[in-house]
Amino acid sequence: MASFGSNGFDDLISDLDDAARFVDGFVCPSCGEEIALDLEADTVTCPHCGAKIDVEHKS
Ligand SMILES: [Zn+2]
Repeated sequence: MASFGSNGFDDLISDLDDAARFVDGFVCPSCGEEIALDLEADTVTCPHCGAKIDVEHKS
């Protein structure tokens, strides 16, 4: 059984730099389900798969 690495997930998180603009249609990078971003939180936990996603705060 191959061990699970986090490199792939880290790459997906990096892609959030572009996707974070689209707050209304935010898609979880882990499971692909739409989730609502809480802009007052530093991180949001996907209700579908439980992935923790950093929220980009733009002023
Ligand atoms: Zn998810």
